[in-house]
Amino acid sequence: RLFVDGPLGPGQRRIEGPQAHYLVGVMRTKVGDPVKLFDGASGEWLGVAAAVGKRDLVLDVTEQLRPLEQVPNFWLCAAPLKKGRIDWLAEKACELGVARLVPVVTRRTVVDKPKDERLRAHMIEAAEQCGRTAVPDLADPVKLPALLREWPTERSLFFADETGGEPAMEAMRERTGPAAVLIGPEGGFDAEEREAIRALPQAVGVSLGPRILRADTAAAAAVSLWMAAAGD
Ligand code: SAM
Repeated sequence: RLFVDGPLGPGQRRIEGPQAHYLVGVMRTKVGDPVKLFDGASGEWLGVAAAVGKRDLVLDVTEQLRPLEQVPNFWLCAAPLKKGRIDWLAEKACELGVARLVPVVTRRTVVDKPKDERLRAHMIEAAEQCGRTAVPDLADPVKLPALLREWPTERSLFFADETGGEPAMEAMRERTGPAAVLIGPEGGFDAEEREAIRALPQAVGVSLGPRILRADTAAAAAVSLWMAAAGD
């Protein structure tokens, strides 16, 4: 399964670079072999290898296999973490089905701007692996006050708060509709930030249990709980 730039449709498509290396060098693709393709906008398509060179190959794109998926209306808003951890988080967010990843800069955030290209590459790789036909949007990093100021009226914000809150699963089951979870940085939110978040009418403080989880673990746990609660 390969992500390619759109638009996809019937016709021929040349694959070059690392993707060609993967198909030819690693997967040993031969003429006649099938390759599934998706572009994040038009579902999944069947390609059949028509010509295989050393550094590129041509696929005959023949038919649409699946339409674009119905993406759960759920965002993950999380403070950027150090390289390995934010990469892991982006990968898991994609696998677990989030529609959008929003990096939120807080007072204790130690990494100001995660590398967009790298995060997007991790999400594309995860989408290729897990069978998604859409790659989550990666929003521009936003400071916490701006996030709260511009928060959409109709979207619940589940604020993962290690100091206490409603049990997350129950809170999520009770509030259906568009939602997001907010996860703090390694050092957590400070008291003023916590107060500002809780003052947002759409915010619901939730607990993920009695143990303090690392931010990346908390993100994966919260997203999993929401997906389970929503049946997505
Ligand atoms: N303030 C803490 C400290 O340094 O001791 C820890 C912050 S925790 C590592 C990072 C983030 O994960 C928190 O801001 C919160 O959003 C989330 N989190 C961790 N454990 C949680 C729990 N048990 N319930 C809800 N959220 C949790």
